[in-house]
Amino acid sequence: MIYNEYLGMNLSRLGFGCMRFKTDPESGEIDQALVNEMFDEAIRGGVNYFDTAYPYLGGKSEIAMAAALEKHPRSSYYLADKFPGHSLPGPVDNRALFEISLDKCRTDYFDFYLMHNINEWTQKTYESEEYHILPDLIKLREEGKIRHLGFSYHGGADFLEEFLKKHEGVFEFVQIQCNYLDWTLQNAQKKYDIITDHGLGVWVMEPCRGGKLAVLSEENTQKLRALNPDASSASYAFRFLQDKPGIKMILSGMNEISQVKDNLATFDNYQPLGAEEKAALNEIAESLKTGVPCTGCRYCCDGCPMELNIPYLIECYNNYMFASAMTISMRIDGLDEDKRPAACIACGQCSHACPQGIDVPAVMQELADIYAAAPKWSEASKGRQTAILHDLKMD
Ligand code: SF4
Ligand code: SF4
Repeated sequence: MIYNEYLGMNLSRLGFGCMRFKTDPESGEIDQALVNEMFDEAIRGGVNYFDTAYPYLGGKSEIAMAAALEKHPRSSYYLADKFPGHSLPGPVDNRALFEISLDKCRTDYFDFYLMHNINEWTQKTYESEEYHILPDLIKLREEGKIRHLGFSYHGGADFLEEFLKKHEGVFEFVQIQCNYLDWTLQNAQKKYDIITDHGLGVWVMEPCRGGKLAVLSEENTQKLRALNPDASSASYAFRFLQDKPGIKMILSGMNEISQVKDNLATFDNYQPLGAEEKAALNEIAESLKTGVPCTGCRYCCDGCPMELNIPYLIECYNNYMFASAMTISMRIDGLDEDKRPAACIACGQCSHACPQGIDVPAVMQELADIYAAAPKWSEASKGRQTAILHDLKMD
């Protein structure tokens, strides 16, 4: 296993994400025996970081993780958990909610604790004086119950910069979706630069894009097989991240022993990509992008009478090709109503200014339709809100 020195710790570069444990399709119960076996294998291979979140697998992930770790000394691994500020039913006792997670994880401190899912919309809750989340988490850090505070991020690059500037000196790491496709598609490179410019460690989630980069088309698989017939597609996705010094943690949501073994082999030693391999991944990434070729130059923005953030909206549109409609809903919900795609009056100014010749009004119209039909994040989080009220005995 290769390790990273960060904040005085020796972190295994591969971390175990606990969001995708196998469950019984009927009962919803996690296959605990498999989790135990995977953890034992990972720990034998040098993994010392385990990441869960309050709502993962309906609240069962924390419990399964703790059960699998019980026989290992607490000081031999790092635990990360997340505060569900994106799914609160209203202001609650944040400390009580935190302590429920401590109990479920059978620990009295978290090495890493994250505000879960910061974006343009959820920040309104996280920064609200009434909800009082950030001051409570800072207090828990002062008390030693949180050793290191960070957040997971799902918004645009510009807002990330704004958020970090506003909270300079508060956070110690930021978790983003980063892989060889999102490096350009979701501006992950820019987000990486922003985080490292603020002197913080980059934590990576979705290194294989929820498995999409682990199971490629036959044509793309053959491109990689031609370079090395024995290497898995997933191994290339992980190695793409290995040579970026700002990345201190790469999380993989493993749910099979074979995945654990394959990942351990990839992280057994430092294997940065060669020029030919980088070129192949670049080609594959381009083949996966089917959206609008916006470069983010912003030439279209100054003249927009509705002052829409056109490149941001196009990024949401492009992301729709890969992410759930819910993710789009979450990102557009964060905008004021007059800044959403439906506010476009189809004046056409932007298309004239666009060096890429993009038919922006048509994209805005399509995005407005997608957004109108998408399930709303606020609706979807009702189940989680009910669970939180139940856990806090407020129902
Ligand atoms: S067509 Fe829409 S997005 Fe483009 S400049 Fe006009 S209002 Fe703005
Ligand atoms: S001018 Fe075209 S390429 Fe540039 S940001 Fe606007 S839509 Fe994108």
